[in-house]
Amino acid sequence: MYCPLCETVDTGKVGTDQYYCWHCLIEFNINSKNKINIYYVEDDGSLIDIDVP
Ligand SMILES: [Zn+2]
Repeated sequence: MYCPLCETVDTGKVGTDQYYCWHCLIEFNINSKNKINIYYVEDDGSLIDIDVP
């Protein structure tokens, strides 16, 4: 799985259809409409939704 931000393949799967990029330190998933959702992971583990143009 490619990272939608930096486009490396250096990502890991962290859940069902959920991936983590070790470069950007973000999580992302792809929904049923093939839209990519990107989340920044806070220090406390909470996810912040990032809108990508
Ligand atoms: Zn990345």
